[in-house]
Amino acid sequence: MANYTNASPNATFPSPRDFILSIPLYKEFPITKYKIIEDNPVYDLEYFRGTIDCYCMQCKAHSIFQCHEKIEPDRDLPPSLYHNYIFTLLLTCSRKKDHEILFLFFANDGKLQKIGQYPSLADLATPDIYKYRNILGDERYKEFTRGVGLASHGVGIGAFVYFRRIFEFLIEKAHLVAKSIINWDEDKYIKSRMDEKITLLQAHLPEVLVKTKSLYGILSKGIHSLTEDECLDSFKVVKLGIELILDEELARKTREDKIRVASKDIGTLGNLLKRDEK
Ligand SMILES: [Zn+2]
Repeated sequence: MANYTNASPNATFPSPRDFILSIPLYKEFPITKYKIIEDNPVYDLEYFRGTIDCYCMQCKAHSIFQCHEKIEPDRDLPPSLYHNYIFTLLLTCSRKKDHEILFLFFANDGKLQKIGQYPSLADLATPDIYKYRNILGDERYKEFTRGVGLASHGVGIGAFVYFRRIFEFLIEKAHLVAKSIINWDEDKYIKSRMDEKITLLQAHLPEVLVKTKSLYGILSKGIHSLTEDECLDSFKVVKLGIELILDEELARKTREDKIRVASKDIGTLGNLLKRDEK
């Protein structure tokens, strides 16, 4: 995982896409080491010309957003010397030019922060998880959106608590299935850490999740021993784990629904053919 710790001068500078779509407001990144004008990540962000795939509030669907060309690139100062320096990134929806998303950055005292954005991170992220509502049920879905909202405001520990609850709920669902199988060692399971539990449940969990199980070791740590930043850093990976399990369940449900509709249609067609034969 990337280390976004505020005080560390070696903190990994996020990619423009991460800065735009997943870094909470006011998180500080040191920029003192970027003394040259070009070839540094601060400029990659400030002069970002790429596209971003995210939810468009007006289209009410995912869209590709293109970043605007800056009219007069100001490259007089290296980032390490930025003082009360503000720059914006404005991106427009590829479907309609007046659908815009805006991000505001502030560099001062050797640090860079995202200080504003429209729409909010939670507004951009929540539509993506709406599809899981039926699978999670109302209560868990509310917790999921609350976790996403808290993380988007940089509240790592609070978000972590919600995400851990949902992750454990989904692991427990797999555990209930596994428990009914003969030769299941329940004692061993109870004494295991989260990453070990994932190995024991591997037949009932997505393959990718099992392959990356070491990342979930953090869920075994006591909430008191984790810092706000550790919780925020693990947020992404726990969210991904939750989504992997839910995606698999969603795919299974869609398949079952299709089979149900197909059986009904085949039945109707069969009856029609029989009637025509008469
Ligand atoms: Zn749009």
